[in-house]
Amino acid sequence: MPQPAVAPALDHLDQHIEGFKATLRDLVRIPSVSAEGFPPEEVRRSAEAVAAALRRAGLQNVRLLEMPGQHPYVYGDWLHADAPTVLVYGHHDVQPPGRPEKWVSPAFEATERGGRLYGRGTADDKGSVMAHVAAVAAYLATSGRLPLNVKFLVEGEEEIGSEGLEPFLQKYRSLLSADAVVLSDTGNLDTGHPALTYLLRGICQVDVEVHCLKQPVHSGMWGGPVPDALRILTEMIAGLEGPDGRLEVPGLYRSVAKTGSKQLGRMRALPFDETAFRQAAAMKPGTELVGEMGRSVYERLWTRPSLTVIALEAQEIKGSSNQILESARARLSMRTVPDMDEKEAGRLLVKKLTSKVRAGARVTASVTGNSPWWTTDPEGPAFEAACRALELGFDRQPALIGAGGSIGFVQPFAEALGGAPCLLMGAEDPAAAIHSENESLHLGDWRKYMRAAVHLYDELSRAPIRRPVRRTAVTPP
Ligand SMILES: [Zn+2]
Repeated sequence: MPQPAVAPALDHLDQHIEGFKATLRDLVRIPSVSAEGFPPEEVRRSAEAVAAALRRAGLQNVRLLEMPGQHPYVYGDWLHADAPTVLVYGHHDVQPPGRPEKWVSPAFEATERGGRLYGRGTADDKGSVMAHVAAVAAYLATSGRLPLNVKFLVEGEEEIGSEGLEPFLQKYRSLLSADAVVLSDTGNLDTGHPALTYLLRGICQVDVEVHCLKQPVHSGMWGGPVPDALRILTEMIAGLEGPDGRLEVPGLYRSVAKTGSKQLGRMRALPFDETAFRQAAAMKPGTELVGEMGRSVYERLWTRPSLTVIALEAQEIKGSSNQILESARARLSMRTVPDMDEKEAGRLLVKKLTSKVRAGARVTASVTGNSPWWTTDPEGPAFEAACRALELGFDRQPALIGAGGSIGFVQPFAEALGGAPCLLMGAEDPAAAIHSENESLHLGDWRKYMRAAVHLYDELSRAPIRRPVRRTAVTPP
């Protein structure tokens, strides 16, 4: 049974939803793109606006936490309960807006249409952060206290890979210590169908260049005997997948963990609607699903490696002429899974690309980025509490899911906080189009997620998750 403070907090959410929405609109109006080439002042302005929202909700000790050369983090807490402490993580930076002409309404002007709020960052991740801020505000405005202790950490460079997170966590480890971490930045299985994410794929990125000539030459005068770098590169890429959909990289599958029966059971228990999946994946009619045959779509998405060509460079069609190009480049992005080592996977891919090269072309390939996979056993009191909270908020039992994407901060968090359970949840649904144009937040699910957050604090406050305070041993000199 929820504690008496829950009902008034839920009422407060309903009565003030427009106010929370206005705050979200204000946050979306700030183009807090963390990527290089965009003004860093906007990310700072966004951090200050988030800090102001935390203060208005009643959080204390609100401040920006800074590291040299990094976008600011926002911290705030409320620590007056004799109960567990939960760290709520989210991020206030956003992806670049993409092509302005593809947006139905401007990217940084949150616009409501058909029960959704459109705009960059509405779903990823300003909406998910605001849901927790609203939950805190609702408790503090009605009962004057929270059922448990909370710490908020809202990052400013998640969208560029959280690369500075490890030194940051080292520096602020004790400030951030908690009994459980709520990472509010993942998606739900479907609109209205909440989810807890317990598995994330990793990533490794490889850049490859094929170089054949000193300069471009006339394709009529020289075409035939003279090698074409772009064709060699595209053949190499085509050769990376076999007819069965497995990647043709020697040694790659050696460390891919066999999917356990418990996990297979969890995946089989999930509903799968191919039509809805195709739609959410923006597939054109007639386009077929690909990948490893004989594996379910969830397995292909979550527990098997996959490869995408994310960039190809040679010559633009506009301005092209009858030339054999001297060189061509591609950026390959491979998703890794338990128990692969993403660095080793990158090395194997580089080895495959640089051995047995056609026509003696000069091929250079190197690993240009990586991030580890993460997984946890979604069992124990914290997960049970989170499941109950999501069910109460959405009026539907949550799904336990994997996510095909990689989130760089989860592994460092899990490590820095010494094995505190990590609860990955959020307000995004498959139609949210995060990172794409016309990103949006389903407002009905946003409200449900806020309600779930209110229940989550209540449920976690009563869960046996308090961990002994870690004391540093003092050795006498
Ligand atoms: Zn995000």
